[in-house]
Amino acid sequence: MSIVLVVNSGSSSLKYQLIDVEQSQTLASGLVERIGAAGGHARHRHEGVENDSLGSHWDVAVDIADHEAAFAVMLEGFAAHGPSLEAHAPIAVGHRVVQGGARFFEPTVITPLVKINIDELSALAPLHNPANLEGIEAAQRAFPDVPHVAVFDTAFHQTMPPAAYTYAIDRELAAKHRIRRYGFHGTSHRFVSRAAAEYLERPIEQLRMIVLHLGNGASACAVDGGRSVETSMGMTPLEGLVMGTRSGDIDPAVLLHLERRAGLDTDGVDRLLNSQSGILGLGGHGDMRDLVAARDAGDEAATLALEVYTHRIRSYVGAYAAQLGRVDAIVFTAGVGENSAVVRELALAGLEGFGVEIDPERNAVRGSEARRISTDGSATAVLVVPTNEELEIARQTLQLVRA
Ligand code: ADP
Repeated sequence: MSIVLVVNSGSSSLKYQLIDVEQSQTLASGLVERIGAAGGHARHRHEGVENDSLGSHWDVAVDIADHEAAFAVMLEGFAAHGPSLEAHAPIAVGHRVVQGGARFFEPTVITPLVKINIDELSALAPLHNPANLEGIEAAQRAFPDVPHVAVFDTAFHQTMPPAAYTYAIDRELAAKHRIRRYGFHGTSHRFVSRAAAEYLERPIEQLRMIVLHLGNGASACAVDGGRSVETSMGMTPLEGLVMGTRSGDIDPAVLLHLERRAGLDTDGVDRLLNSQSGILGLGGHGDMRDLVAARDAGDEAATLALEVYTHRIRSYVGAYAAQLGRVDAIVFTAGVGENSAVVRELALAGLEGFGVEIDPERNAVRGSEARRISTDGSATAVLVVPTNEELEIARQTLQLVRA
């Protein structure tokens, strides 16, 4: 059996997938939302499995007090709508954990000591690690007899060289507070870079590529021979590209100016940069579909927002090309990267002189499979490769428990 339950536990939500890893097939998936608040909501989807191929869908309004209650709702979804967790029992549970610091560079079986470490790393990820840990505790109570594995968002980037992850501030102060670039979206960058190599039918060891994960959060990653050597998110997921609601790179002195001159306190600056900036702050829409629609209708703010968004991507592509020395492939992934032809076109416009040329017809084709959107003459292959972080977590979990 190769069935793994993948759990992504946020502060107010629980996402899960039951995956048959050997078949690369999702048997069921679901989402429990508004944990700890009034008006909770749960959705469970049974994708349909062999000999039982109908599948079903369940949507329910239910108040959910905490993560333990969220797991009870999830189990109810399985019991009432399938598939049966007896017939399709997971042999392990894989957990997404956001911050693994410099301590975790590979998937790790969760022991009491690992939980202490994850808790301790909450200092670096106060919004994420505590919620991940609550999910782990609740899942261990719900599935006490199987191994639980932590898969860290930061792990893939632990191969970055010191020159890439070190901030140019006082060394001792940085060391004391563990201030350095960690990078995020590592599970996605790893999955997508491997899938791109498969698509190109070339050993990943020979390839140098730039992966652009453009979702609500967004990050670029330079991947050399399958290893992350540079990424745009830093100590937190705020640095780098322009995102749905996050500013990405900004002169740090702007923060000082906001506090001294605009009357914002630290929480106010935090809210501004994390929740009210990006394409939302610039163009009034945090969702790329809405932003592009507004631009198409002639909205000036939306037009500028899209230009800033794609200009930043192009800057990173140039920077990472210089770090890599050669670029075999540029790979777009996640919600925006997989779906927005206009973002892809604008982001790589004008790079023909560097051997990067998108074919407009190929770029316009929609699809759910990996595909090439560059011209045949483009020296750098430009690809769209759908990400699947849950499958990657399930694969890594299975590999570890079988080892
Ligand atoms: P998350 O980071 O939450 O996992 P996703 O990878 O699902 O996010 O990406 C969400 C983003 O993808 C949203 O900004 C959404 O607008 C964008 N998106 C989804 N479909 C399209 C589309 N057809 N065109 C443009 N953007 C899209």
